[in-house]
Amino acid sequence: MAEEPDVGVPSRAERKAIEKAKILQRESERNIVRLVGRVLKKPEAERTDEEAAVLLLHGAIVEELCKRQGRRNVLKRKQEEVFDDADELKAKVRQLAMAVNQAKHLVVYTGAGISTAASIPDYRGPNGVWTQLQKGRPISSSDLGKAEPTLTHMCIKMLHKEKMVKHVVSQNCDGLHLRSGLPRNALSELHGNMFIEVCTFCSPVREYVRLFDVTERTSLHRHGTGRRCSHCGSELRDTIVHFGERGTLEQPLNWKGASEAAKMADVILCLGSSLKVLKKYGCLWCMNRPLSKRPKLYIVNLQWTPKDDLAVLKIHGKCDDVMSLLMKELNLQIPVYDRVEDPIFSLATLLQPEEVDSHTREVIASSDGQQNRSADPGGPAEEATAVQGGWFGRGYSKGRRRRKKLHN
Ligand SMILES: [Zn+2]
Repeated sequence: MAEEPDVGVPSRAERKAIEKAKILQRESERNIVRLVGRVLKKPEAERTDEEAAVLLLHGAIVEELCKRQGRRNVLKRKQEEVFDDADELKAKVRQLAMAVNQAKHLVVYTGAGISTAASIPDYRGPNGVWTQLQKGRPISSSDLGKAEPTLTHMCIKMLHKEKMVKHVVSQNCDGLHLRSGLPRNALSELHGNMFIEVCTFCSPVREYVRLFDVTERTSLHRHGTGRRCSHCGSELRDTIVHFGERGTLEQPLNWKGASEAAKMADVILCLGSSLKVLKKYGCLWCMNRPLSKRPKLYIVNLQWTPKDDLAVLKIHGKCDDVMSLLMKELNLQIPVYDRVEDPIFSLATLLQPEEVDSHTREVIASSDGQQNRSADPGGPAEEATAVQGGWFGRGYSKGRRRRKKLHN
C-alpha cells in the first residue's frame, strides 16, 4: 500500500497510531475506575496500604463513584416496599378513620396498587399488561377478563354509598371501579377504561361499553378499534390515554368531575398509587393555594411517593389490609362483589353478529360456567344468533338474576 503524500495532514499510519493510543488511554481509565470500585467495596479496615494509596491517587474518581452509589441507594430505597408492623398499622388506620369521619369532602385517588389483588399486575408499569402488549408480547387476556373488583374497590363503593367518599379519581384502566357499582358520576377514570369504546363523530360522543378489552389493536396515537358506530358508521376508538398523550375525552375521563372534587376536597386519600403520574396534574392537588389551604393528604402505598413529605399520614400497607381495618374502625360492612349485580352487564352494548369476530379477547362471563349461551335450550333461535359471542346483554343478566332467585 502506498504512503499518502504528507503535507501537514497526518498519514494513515499516524492516524492509526493516534487512534490506538486513545483506545489504550480509555482502556487504562476504565481499569482504574474498576480498580477503585473494587477497593471501595472493601471495608476500610480490610484495605491494604497499596489499595489505600490507589484511592488517594484517584480522588476525583473516588468522589464520582461515591456520588453514583449514593444516587443508586436513594433510588433503591424509593423502590423498596415497606410494611408497617401490625400495631403501627392499626394505630395509623385509627387515625385515618378519624379523618374519614370528620372529612366534609373526602376524595379518593387510586392507582394500580388497588388492583393487584385482582391479578392485574398494573396496567402501565414497566411489567404492566399494557406495556407487554405494546412490546408485542403475549399476555394472558383471561387474567383481565377474570379480574374482579377487589375488597378495596368494594370498600370504596360502600364509603361512597355512605356518603363518606364524594368522588373517586383513578389512574387505572381496568374498569373495576365501575364494575364495583360505584356510580359513574362519582368516578373519573383519567386514563380511560379498557371496556369502553366511543364514537367521537357522533355528537354528543356515543359510548359503547363492551364485555371485553377493546384495546387489543390500539397503541400510542392509534386509537381505532376496528369496529364501527352503529349510528353513523365511523370507526370507534378506545378511551385509553397512552403515555405521552393528553386525554381530552369527556367520558370516562371526567376531568370536570375530578377537578371540581379536588376544589371541594378537604381530605384526599391516595390508595396504591406511586403518584408519579398523578403528581403532574396540578389541579388535583390545589397547588395554586398556600400549603395550609390545600386538602390534607393521606397516602396508603408500600413504596415511596413524591407526595410523602406533604402527607399528614403515610401508611405502608397493602390496600386491602388497610381498607378492611378501616371498615372495622368505621363499623361498616364490606360488600362482597357479586357478578350478577355488576353494572357492566346492563351497560354493555351487544356486538352485531358480523362484529363477533372483531376481537380475540376473552369476554367477561356474567357468571362462571355460563360461557356458552347456545347450550341454553331456553331462548328462541333468533335470539341465540344475535347474542353469539356477545351473549352478555341486558336481557341475559336479568335472566340470571331470575334464575338465581329461584334457587334461593
Ligand atoms: Zn357515530
